[in-house]
Amino acid sequence: MTTVIETRGLTKTYGKVRALDGLDLSIPRGGVYGVLGPNGAGKSTLFRILLGLIRASDGTATVMGGGVGDVAAMRRMGSMIETPRFPPYMTARQVLRWLALEHGVAAEADIPRWLDRVGLTEAADRKVRGFSVGMLQRLGVAGALLSKPELVILDEPTSGMDPPGIQEMRALIRSLADDDGVTVVLASHQLLEVQRVCDRVAIMNRGKLVREGAVSELTATGERLRLSVKPVERVAEILGANGARDGGAVLANIARAEAPALIKALVEAGIEIDEARWVGADLESVFMSETGHQETPHAG
Ligand code: ADP
Repeated sequence: MTTVIETRGLTKTYGKVRALDGLDLSIPRGGVYGVLGPNGAGKSTLFRILLGLIRASDGTATVMGGGVGDVAAMRRMGSMIETPRFPPYMTARQVLRWLALEHGVAAEADIPRWLDRVGLTEAADRKVRGFSVGMLQRLGVAGALLSKPELVILDEPTSGMDPPGIQEMRALIRSLADDDGVTVVLASHQLLEVQRVCDRVAIMNRGKLVREGAVSELTATGERLRLSVKPVERVAEILGANGARDGGAVLANIARAEAPALIKALVEAGIEIDEARWVGADLESVFMSETGHQETPHAG
């Protein structure tokens, strides 16, 4: 497995606060990778170290095979940390021209295409002064892509956006990974978003990694068989402690291998089965159980 980011024992302390506490992380090349965690988990600290903005107190980090701050490695990545700020009197197109300067003529020729990809073609010649947070974020992403990076790091790319904006950003992130082959690493606390857009996630809490894996794997643990049945009370009774009522259905907490026998037994007991399907745990419940976080992770 080739990796784009590796950290070993990465630690950052601010006085007594351990913002990162011996973090070991390997982020594979390709796809969309989400770094999740409640506020204060250390996500921004991690990204800032990776981008060379702050120094680690201990441990190592490599990005694109080079040490943090390695110029050749840095040239192969783009980033957007927080909502970007641009000179308000410039238009979106001027901002991108300005950012493209250091990447040469090819980057400048790509500007109309990136404006289109981030949905800013119509606003291209408007001053950024009147831009919404979502528009600034999309312009920031376009700016991060001008150098044709192999890796882009995005901190909370959908924060402050309205639902249509979030949907567009999600589609853009997916298409960067699927159509352009860019590895996207993003931090977020919006779990539903992450579940929809990411292939793999790392869940952090208090500067440590508490869980890592493919979204499909993480949500597969804890999956249950949802049975729409009549009479539902009978089935709940049969399943006992392994069953939980869910409206007109029962959620059976059983292994996949046990399902055929259960269904056969229910049919033989005269139960009418309208539907039987496996439902996964959502990322939110995985997150809650790993971080013990009770507050709503969608807020903020
Ligand atoms: P996240 O991005 O997951 O919300 P952060 O990386 O911003 O988390 O913060 C992790 C911890 O480090 C928090 O407890 C935060 O208060 C602390 N921290 C971050 N930056 C500083 C700083 N410059 N000075 C002191 N403490 C900081």
